[in-house]
Amino acid sequence: MIKILKFGGTSLANSKRILSVSKIIEKKYKTNQIAVVLSAPAKITNYLEKLINFSIKQKNYKKIILKIQNKFIKISTKISKKNKKISLEKLLNIIEKEMFFLRKKTKKIYFLKKCSKITYAKIISKGEILSTYIINHILLSKNFNTYLINPVKKIIAQGNILESYVNLKSSIEKIQKINIPSKSIILMPGFIAGNKEKKLVLLGRNGSDYSAAILSACLKSKSCEIWTDVNGILTCDPKIISNAKVLNEITYKNILELSCLGAKVLHPKSIYPLKKFNIPCYIKNTFNKNFLGTKIYKTIKKKNKYNFSITYIDNIYMFNIKILNENIKYKIQKKILKYIKKKYISIIYLSNLINSKLIYLYIEKKYIKYIKKIFKKNIEKSIYKSKILIKKKKKLSIISIVQPKIKKIKNLIKKIKNSLNHSNIKILNIQKKSKNCISFILKSKNKIVAIKLIHKIMLYKNQINEIFLLGIGGIGKTLLKQINKEKNNLKQKKINIKICLISNSNKLLFKENGIKINLWKKKFKKVIKKYKKIKLIKKINKKIKKNFYINPIIIDCTSSKKVSNQYIQYINNNFHVITANKKFNTGSIKNYKKIRNISSKKNKKFMYETNVGAGLPIIQTIKNIVHTGDKLILFKGILSGSLSYIFGKLDNGMLFSKAVKKAKKKGFTEPDPREDLSGLDVARKLLIIAREFGFNLELKDIKIEKILPKSLKNISLENFLIKIKKFDKYFLKKILLCKQNKKRIRFIGTINKYGKCKIKMSKINKKNPLYKIKNGENAFTFYTKYYQPIPLLIRGYGAGKKVTASGVFSDLLKSIL
Ligand code: ADP
Ligand code: ASP
Ligand code: MG
Repeated sequence: MIKILKFGGTSLANSKRILSVSKIIEKKYKTNQIAVVLSAPAKITNYLEKLINFSIKQKNYKKIILKIQNKFIKISTKISKKNKKISLEKLLNIIEKEMFFLRKKTKKIYFLKKCSKITYAKIISKGEILSTYIINHILLSKNFNTYLINPVKKIIAQGNILESYVNLKSSIEKIQKINIPSKSIILMPGFIAGNKEKKLVLLGRNGSDYSAAILSACLKSKSCEIWTDVNGILTCDPKIISNAKVLNEITYKNILELSCLGAKVLHPKSIYPLKKFNIPCYIKNTFNKNFLGTKIYKTIKKKNKYNFSITYIDNIYMFNIKILNENIKYKIQKKILKYIKKKYISIIYLSNLINSKLIYLYIEKKYIKYIKKIFKKNIEKSIYKSKILIKKKKKLSIISIVQPKIKKIKNLIKKIKNSLNHSNIKILNIQKKSKNCISFILKSKNKIVAIKLIHKIMLYKNQINEIFLLGIGGIGKTLLKQINKEKNNLKQKKINIKICLISNSNKLLFKENGIKINLWKKKFKKVIKKYKKIKLIKKINKKIKKNFYINPIIIDCTSSKKVSNQYIQYINNNFHVITANKKFNTGSIKNYKKIRNISSKKNKKFMYETNVGAGLPIIQTIKNIVHTGDKLILFKGILSGSLSYIFGKLDNGMLFSKAVKKAKKKGFTEPDPREDLSGLDVARKLLIIAREFGFNLELKDIKIEKILPKSLKNISLENFLIKIKKFDKYFLKKILLCKQNKKRIRFIGTINKYGKCKIKMSKINKKNPLYKIKNGENAFTFYTKYYQPIPLLIRGYGAGKKVTASGVFSDLLKSIL
């Protein structure tokens, strides 16, 4: 049994590709008799169309002929260079003959300022004719026998000259009468047919697929292979979704819906002839010859990994027809449908909402002229005129999902609605065309984002969470490690975390579909491009604005103010913000309030548990206190791990200078311990706690009793570490005095019930819960209306990479669940 092979424009775009096509033909011929249908080299049909339009409009059309001519000369020259047996002269003669034809015809069109449909068809099919000549020459030069079918004589069509329908019965009769030599490779130019008058007509743009299907039906072929530039039918056009997946199989029914709804990969008219004779069709990739591709057949296996595809049609106009008289609604609708059928208007949606006076009519721009005619003829002139209002909306797109028996449709629609809503995309209408297909109508400008979102929802069963991680110092790195370790557990909990962006202070790594978390270090190292901080932030913001994320989350593990200044914008772009960086929450109270307002309005999380006490549940506890109507009476806390360590050591008689150095060595302090000793970091934490309790304070309102004099502020670190020895005696004396009174010194932050905040070295006795706090531990005591006289006490490590990262991780999980 014979096999049909069709090669599309992209497969024939240049000499290299044409030679590769010839190789495929030769290989296939070894095992089967074959018939080959050829398209024009890529873009040639467009140029030919442009040529006619330029001639009609009196523009410089000659340069287009030259362009076409040069393209074919280049192809022929290169081919004949590769294969000496091919006669370049012969090829050039053929090209010249066809160019002569084009010159003659366009001259006439230029003169008449119009072009008949018959001439139009003759001109724009020249690409197919020339492709066939070239392939024929290559095969002949390699001693193959070929047999050319002239589609004008053998493929019989009717209807619009430029978009004809094939009369399958007559064509079968004609083709089957041919006595094709069995050892020949059959060649036929696609896109072309002949009408009753034996004139050349066209099958519509992209119509070579249809030619191949017709030839398959006529020759009762074993299969029809459509060779193109993609691996098969994919879950979406790869020009939009770079990680689109291949469908191993698809049914005739589903591919028909898909192609009618815009997927250009196969012409919709091709399906009927294949289906009628149960001919399996394969979509194959000329550039990946050995890949199986997609099989199109009447049934498919249930086990296929991917079985959906998303497609779209642009340039949709919506007519919103309001019929004031309910009785005539169905009459009008019937009339519209009848006319549309008559005119072969193929893509249309008519949505008639029950109990509504509205009819929504969605139609492609190219059909508008027909619709206008219907309105003119049937409505405007009729007695109905005063009872009908027509409103028009343009620049719409229809995005459709095709999948066999779509499951849980209501749920799916809800998910899609929600995520489009998050990206501020309004769905204008939803159509359930069949049990295999749902369509969403929205503004064209939102099309790409919507497709990306819908594709993600369909591709991943679990909800996707897109992480943008800013800052990969100790905490950021540890967080990635922890997420990686928990990967399988998260999967089991149906949580899908994709790390889309990782950045440090001058580089960024971005991958829309997620960076492989175990390889992030290697991939990040490979990023060469470095930016200045502001430029980097701009670059990140650009990615954030793209808005095609389902549940996007910024995680700020920097300590940068410039980064924290972006949070409001991030939330406005529908990101959750999780931060370990204290800069935002200790900035102006105005912004502190603003972000909370915006995040609640946008229903986005702003989380910062690690701003105080690292992983300890401080913020969460305060929120509970406030939300349950409890009232703060007094807060006292040791909020600094380094100072907890240092004062703990002093209890045991260690010298102050030694305790500082030891704390530094153990990594309890900032690189410069003065940052801890100045009390500023504690002040920031105390401010955040006070603000959580509802006090409108600024950082300057926190009173710090300094441990060390100002004179130590502006000297070098080495010098500082020497000079603090001067204070050893002072502390020794102080501690001794305390010991005599059975007291200890602790660096304590206090908030009273009026919101007065103080930080100072305090002498405390055994009864105070902070008395025992040492070794870098933090402690937070809340005396409230409900928690007294025994306070609510939280203690534990309040610093360190692991506990801080786990605090961030816990915030992350809260913004997911
Ligand atoms: P040819 O030149 O071979 O006829 P076309 O450009 O007409 O090729 O069709 C192939 C193109 O169809 C692909 O390059 C791809 O961009 C587009 N396409 C649209 N939707 C899909 C889909 N669901 N699967 C695969 N390709 C698709
Ligand atoms: N060459 C024609 C077109 O570009 C037909 C085809 O490629 O299928 O529309
Ligand atoms: Mg095509």
